[in-house]
Amino acid sequence: MKYTSTRNARLSVEASHAIARGISAEGGLFVPCELPTVTPDWIRELAPLSYIERAVRVLALFLTDFSSEELIHAAEAAYSQGRFEDDRPAPLADLSDGRVVLELWHGPTCAFKDMALQLMPHLMAPAACRALDGKKMMILVATSGDTGKAALEGFCDAEGVKIAVFYPDAGVSPMQRLQMTTQKGENVEVFAIKGNFDSAQSEVKRIFTDPTVIGELARHDTVLSSANSINWGRLVPQIVYYFSAYADLLADGALAGGEEINFVVPTGNFGNILAGYYAKRMGLPVGRLVCASNRNDILADFLRSGVYDANRPFHTTLSPSMDILISSNLERLLFELCGRDDKTVADLMERLASARRYEVDGALSERMREIFWGGSVDDARCQREIRTVFERLGYLIDPHTAVAMGVCDDYRAATGDKRKCVVVSTASPYKFAAAVLEALGETRPKDEFEAAVLLSRRTATEIPAPVAALENAKIRFTRLLTPGEMPGAVAAFALK
Ligand SMILES: *Cc1c(COP(=O)(O)O)cnc(C)c1O
Repeated sequence: MKYTSTRNARLSVEASHAIARGISAEGGLFVPCELPTVTPDWIRELAPLSYIERAVRVLALFLTDFSSEELIHAAEAAYSQGRFEDDRPAPLADLSDGRVVLELWHGPTCAFKDMALQLMPHLMAPAACRALDGKKMMILVATSGDTGKAALEGFCDAEGVKIAVFYPDAGVSPMQRLQMTTQKGENVEVFAIKGNFDSAQSEVKRIFTDPTVIGELARHDTVLSSANSINWGRLVPQIVYYFSAYADLLADGALAGGEEINFVVPTGNFGNILAGYYAKRMGLPVGRLVCASNRNDILADFLRSGVYDANRPFHTTLSPSMDILISSNLERLLFELCGRDDKTVADLMERLASARRYEVDGALSERMREIFWGGSVDDARCQREIRTVFERLGYLIDPHTAVAMGVCDDYRAATGDKRKCVVVSTASPYKFAAAVLEALGETRPKDEFEAAVLLSRRTATEIPAPVAALENAKIRFTRLLTPGEMPGAVAAFALK
């Protein structure tokens, strides 16, 4: 299977090229030339398989220039060997009220980004071998908190790769910051940026097409790549857990074959939910994809009105990984929904860059609403969700998952849809221990580790080992840059 670009549909490259490069030369995103489809039997056959075996089957549909040995090696390296807490990396928790939680935070950084970023480095190595003829790679990551750590962890000391992470100085939780500033490894750099996630992300995207930086790196035989969800290598491992959740429900006898389920996804950059969309298009029986936002509710407005308008205040919330106004992966959805018309997509993205606003036509908007439903909840509601879900159901959730829980309730109340809802849980509550403790009605301690201990006592749940280990870790990275200083920092890092 070949890949093309959302802004140049004449392009046709192998998966290795798409993953090694991260973004297409003209600024578009790589997408499969056509989506593979599966039969109900193919889905049923997943039920008795392990997560690793399910992953290999899904990956093989998309990464056709990888050998099956490469895919098996990558899936085993990512999802076994004690990388995940459990031998089931993506377990379900049934809340017995028509809702099932898909827990995606049992990996080394306690957030769902591990599902893709534990695997992606093992795809990157063979991809780079085939697509970059011996050049070195520098990976640039803009993060709203969780991607940075997961990418650092995934690529730490990887051969022939350097990785630089940029995070918004005032936009991450204390635990997220510590996870990044204490990262080990000789090939890593971490920078705080003055500004919010959007400024970090747009500067990273700009650097990818900046001839000066590219020329400078070329002199050191280095090319840029991305570990953000603009990289196809991030999306394909995410498709796996949608199939895996369905297969688990089948194996448990909780679903009749072919029965549709909804997924409710706490959304920021639209990468997670887009993987669910691809799964649906491939033939997974998915009803609605419910897109949950915090007070940065640009996606809910867009799904309702067809107007994407980023001219609005940026709010920092209790769910920082969703504090995003420019959702990069929406570009891939627009490409699919406008009949794969690269001119239309390039035009919309041009308007987004120049006016921070675009509007899609009525037909596209209608198609979008048949598949997606958008809602948002504010911080007060998010706190209430954490408390009621814990008090009524005895189940502890983080603020991002709480946003999804709230929107799930709103969706069911608004539509009367009775289909089972899988709520995608994206982070461990211990990544946001102080906020969660406060939501449970306790006073908020200043120290995050004290908060974790109190939370553990209050809820009789365990502090995940990666969080506990941070308490005595040494801080290595303290530099604070303006977005304008990022290209210089990238060039200097290439020299090092
Ligand atoms: C990244 C992240 C999200 C948002 O996911 P997208 O793929 O960017 O939409 C939600 N919750 C948590 C905890 C995250 O780390």
